[in-house]
Amino acid sequence: MTVTVLTGATVVTMDAGRRVLTDGAVAFTEAGVITAVGDPASVLAASPTATVVDCSGQVVVPGFVNTHTHLFQTLLKGLGDDRVLSDWFTSMTGPSAVQLTAEDSYAAALHGCAEALTTGTTTLLDFMYVHPRPGLGDAVAQAMSDVGIRGVMARGYMTAGTDVGVPPELVQPLDAALSDAERLMGIWNRPDSRVTVGLAPCMSWSVDEATLVETRALADATGALVTMHLSESPFDVQESVRRFGVRDVPFAAGTGLLGPDLLAAHCVQVDAADLDLLAATDTKVSHNPCSNLYLGSGFAPVPAMQRRGITVGLASDGPASSSNHSMLQAMKFAALLHKGVHRDPEIMTAEKALEMATIDGARALGMADRIGSLEPGKRADVVVLDMGNLCVTPVHAAVSALVYSQRGDEVSRVYVDGRLVVADGVLVTASEAAIAERSAAAAAGLAARAGTDRFAQRPWRSMVGA
Ligand SMILES: [Zn+2]
Repeated sequence: MTVTVLTGATVVTMDAGRRVLTDGAVAFTEAGVITAVGDPASVLAASPTATVVDCSGQVVVPGFVNTHTHLFQTLLKGLGDDRVLSDWFTSMTGPSAVQLTAEDSYAAALHGCAEALTTGTTTLLDFMYVHPRPGLGDAVAQAMSDVGIRGVMARGYMTAGTDVGVPPELVQPLDAALSDAERLMGIWNRPDSRVTVGLAPCMSWSVDEATLVETRALADATGALVTMHLSESPFDVQESVRRFGVRDVPFAAGTGLLGPDLLAAHCVQVDAADLDLLAATDTKVSHNPCSNLYLGSGFAPVPAMQRRGITVGLASDGPASSSNHSMLQAMKFAALLHKGVHRDPEIMTAEKALEMATIDGARALGMADRIGSLEPGKRADVVVLDMGNLCVTPVHAAVSALVYSQRGDEVSRVYVDGRLVVADGVLVTASEAAIAERSAAAAAGLAARAGTDRFAQRPWRSMVGA
């Protein structure tokens, strides 16, 4: 069996000891299993016939884990500027979603996953809540499979909410949504699948109590990951109180939905009692700093979560509210945001930002036994970064350089499951030019059909309301 050995690099293992090897090596098989991590001499001695890749001067890390995005929004970049979440959703994202076709969904997912891979993300969760016609979730899972990323296609659903602006075309009967999710799980959820399917009730103002109760039952029966937006904006909390008499975190708790297999996206507006509920149930959190800032939603109290022992993974969120899928940007924003808002430079370190982007993200997806660190026995999701550019050099500290100095184009090689998917910074599983051409055509058509192209043609605004 062919073994690849990456040698000579600074290897940031993210193992339990958080070892950083200044002249390290990583070996893995073509079947995608890491066989050795250590000094080059001993790793090479154990694999004498290996294909050796010289990574001198480069940094090797576990692939990043993006715990929350909406791939279809890859077609909506730049249309949602300067709006709060509820207005952003009802005036731009919702009307776009209504018009989404299977071709749009595939083109967007392919582009979004290509962005992710070429910026070092090897695992991505797509929260796919848009199903105005059949086959859109299938298109996402197929794109993930085709482009070579490790993916969770979380089959989302909205079963209520037309009274607060959810387009009726996006509301599905619960039975239809769950049976489609079960159909997709039957296709994709097999032992060792690189692409799997989870469940995603959308947010408190687009579901009812039965939706969450039945989601919990199906998750328990199938072992599927569940994810839901919780306490993203003040509107989420206000609407939950209006509809159900309690904030959305206790509402979800009351249905039995909270638990170790629930990934709660955002949790920006949570109070101390909400945090206690999340901690007591070992519910995981997805932190989306760029999106929360873009929509003016605020910031999640991530240090307080981490002090309570809550696992927090990092994410980009959909490009309609974050404008790209770069986890390099998300890491830098996460670290700087919490230093700034807490007026405490120690409260979020570069090391913690990298943990959230790797091993903590893997834990958040229930995949830490397979990914998130470079250790023998884990899957070979490995990223090599060329740190030789002017923004990064001179490099005194690899992790600091990775989080704070990178300009975003450092990723040179990416392996997923031991397969080379990015080489010399370029996607090898599909043509980047063809992907961009296809998504550009889909984006233009979608904006025209949805009437959202008007947001691209707005007058110059320098000081709104001044
Ligand atoms: Zn989201």
